Amino acid sequence: MAERNIYLPYLMRIAKITDEAPAVKTFRLEFINPEEAANFEFHTGQFGMYTAFGEGESTFCIASSPTRKGYIECTFRAVGRVTSALATKEEGDVIGFRGPCGNLFPLEQWRGRNLLFIAGGIALPPLRSVIWNCLDQRDWFEKITVVYGARSVADLVYKHELQDWEARPDIDLVVTVDPGGETADWKGKVGFVPHVVEQLAPPSENTVAIVCGPPVMIRFTLPLLEKLGFTPDSVYTTLENRMKCGHGKCGRCNTGTSFICKDGPVYTLAQLRELPAEY
Ligand SMILES: Cc1cc2nc3c(=O)[nH]c(=O)nc-3n(C[C@H](O)[C@H](O)[C@H](O)COP(=O)(O)OP(=O)(O)OC[C@H]3O[C@@H](n4cnc5c(N)ncnc54)[C@H](O)[C@@H]3O)c2cc1C
Repeated sequence: MAERNIYLPYLMRIAKITDEAPAVKTFRLEFINPEEAANFEFHTGQFGMYTAFGEGESTFCIASSPTRKGYIECTFRAVGRVTSALATKEEGDVIGFRGPCGNLFPLEQWRGRNLLFIAGGIALPPLRSVIWNCLDQRDWFEKITVVYGARSVADLVYKHELQDWEARPDIDLVVTVDPGGETADWKGKVGFVPHVVEQLAPPSENTVAIVCGPPVMIRFTLPLLEKLGFTPDSVYTTLENRMKCGHGKCGRCNTGTSFICKDGPVYTLAQLRELPAEY
């Protein structure tokens, strides 16, 4: 079969829209062409370029798990030109998708280990893909813990799935909101994500930590994990640098010798330390 043109978007119908939080939506996207649907494969950690025709493309992770076939999902916040145009779309509308791009979370390497996921705000979507992938292969892993925080209860995404995870006996979920962000009926924790991780003091032995969140959360969480005994090669994160082509050709995301869109977006802390200082 001829190789697909990497610049040609798939046409995707919006099958379902979920309002997650203020200005944050999840699209479930189905391939219009059934042959493309059947041939499409991706790995958890990869991302794509989503087109609002006439406006441009935006980069989002693939937020669904590769174990769930027939569709992909993305969750995005309307922050600018393309994302605002996407936010006006309705169920049944058609958008474009190019991908999958980038590297992956190495689940095979994590077999037999404990997994500690730490996410903040709108950064849960990339980890949601991995979390569902791991839950769908639950016997590969030992203990799975998820610590997720947002500014306020309203800002938590995937609220219905958080309830599902809460109810499952094979995953420990800790949800927190920043001080002042709680509601009268809030039953979760109140406190910044790094403080909650510090209180939890998860053991580092045989454990992989997967961290994604705003820069301030990352800045405080990484040293804390090292203090808890996590080695730089057992801590993973995923970067969100601005990028354009998604295939290491245009150079927009180039840093040092790395093209984030091709060599990343998934890096261990050890690999990040090889990149120029701003990372
Ligand atoms: C690998 C990767 C995965 C991503 N995954 C998601 C996701 O799952 N969900 C999601 O909501 N967003 C995600 N992003 C960020 C998303 O790509 C941008 O928010 C989006 O492209 C903005 O497009 P726009 O045209 O609406 O904004 P623009 O009109 O281009 O910009 C609006 C504002 O956002 C800033 N901005 C735009 N892109 C970025 C960026 N990459 N980093 C920092 N600031 C930026 C601009 O400087 C400007 O201030 C991801 C980015 C990358 C590179």
